[in-house]
This record gives sequence, structure tokens and C-alpha cells, in this order.
Amino acid sequence: MVAELNTYDIYNIILHAYDLIAQNKDYLTNLDAAIGDADHGINMERGFNLAVNRLKSINIENSDIGSILTTVANAMLETVGGAAGPLYSMFFMNMATASSGKRSVDLKTLVVMFEQGLKGIQDIGGGTQPGEKTMVDTLYPFIEELKKLSANNNDINVAFDEALKAAEKGMLATVNMVAKKGRASYLGERSVGHQDPGATSMYLILKAFYDIIQAKAKERR
Ligand code: ADP
Ligand code: MG
Repeated sequence: MVAELNTYDIYNIILHAYDLIAQNKDYLTNLDAAIGDADHGINMERGFNLAVNRLKSINIENSDIGSILTTVANAMLETVGGAAGPLYSMFFMNMATASSGKRSVDLKTLVVMFEQGLKGIQDIGGGTQPGEKTMVDTLYPFIEELKKLSANNNDINVAFDEALKAAEKGMLATVNMVAKKGRASYLGERSVGHQDPGATSMYLILKAFYDIIQAKAKERR
């Protein structure tokens, strides 16, 4: 049972997210080449690289979860560029605000953090809803599942296991969608048949949470 995530867990999640993004840099860029301008993997790798470098130079012991996530948000805004830079920056900034001053968070708090993160994306993105072929198509069903499981369960491990499956389904569903937001929307119907790059990077970020949580669950057995 994983009842809470602490500052170190969040730090490890960001380091792992960087690894997953770096490993999939070309894949993300190729997805963006099909329906955008072939920069998404390059953008995301640059942002996480700066975030990780900054985090490695601070004392995690003296940090809280909010300040870790603020560092990520600032790196995204400064270096990612394009649409994804401000969108991911607001995502992490809102998550940071919801965990400000906290050194550990339980499942209920994690739900609020992700809900606020989604709200940040929607505020910046012009009210982005699921079905518009964006990162929201991965994040929205993830949160719905997390919320459902948090109603009568406190185990972060169980909740993220189910929620990641919903996120993957959401990501894969973007293949058949017509893009309504961002650069891909210029293609209209021609965007159909391609997986959305932002939905894919969001999946990798959520998978980073899942992987670290699974590792923590194993440690405790
Ligand atoms: P750009 O399109 O400026 O080159 P990126 O390639 O880095 O930026 O990011 C593209 C991704 O951003 C898309 O795949 C999509 O998931 C996401 N995106 C774009 N516009 C929006 C929006 N309005 N709301 C939510 N997500 C969006
Ligand atoms: Mg692009």
C-alpha cells in the first residue's frame, strides 16, 4: 500500500519523466512531423533537461513538493516554446500551487493537484475539452479514473494502476480524432489516422508517476 508520495518521490518522478521523454524524443518528434511541425520531442527534451539540471543543484531535503513542481513549470516556460511550453508550464504550476508547502501528499491531494493541472491547460488552451485531439485526451480520463478510485480507496498504487490504463486508452483514441486545437487543427480531417504528440508526452509523464509509485509499492512488500 502506498498512502503518500513525499518530496523525494516527486523528485524521482521528474527525473524518470526526463528519461522517458529523452528515450522517446525522436518518436514524439516524428508524431509531430505527421500533424505539426516536427519539434515536440525536441521541445520536451529541452524543457525536462533544464528542469532536471536545476533540481539536481538544489537540496531536496529542504524542499517541498510545490517548489519542485514550480522549478519544472519555470523550465517549461523558459525553454519548451511552441504551444506545449505554456501548456505544460501551467499544468505544473497549478500542480505546484495545490501542493505548496507540502512534503507529502495523499491520493485525495493528488487528485486535486491533477484537477488543477488540467484546469491550467484548459485556461491557457482556450477551454480544451476531451475529443479535440490534444494532451487533454490522455489527462482527462486519467483524472476521472483517479477520482473514482479515490472515493473509497487511499492506495495510490491501485489508483494509478487503473488510471494509467485509462490514460493509455485516451492517448490511443486520439488516432481517430479530428484535431480541433493547436497546429494540427489546420489539417482538419487530414489529422485523422495520427496519434497526437502532446497526448503521447502526457502519457509518458503520467507513466513516470506510475513507475515510481510501483517501485515504491514493491519496496514496501
Ligand atoms: P507546437 O504545436 O506549437 O509546435 P508542440 O509541438 O510542442 O507545439 O506541441 C503540440 C501539442 O500541444 C499537441 O500535440 C497538443 O497535444 C497540444 N496542444 C496544442 N494546442 C492545445 C490546446 N489548445 N489545448 C491543449 N493542448 C494543446
Ligand atoms: Mg510542434
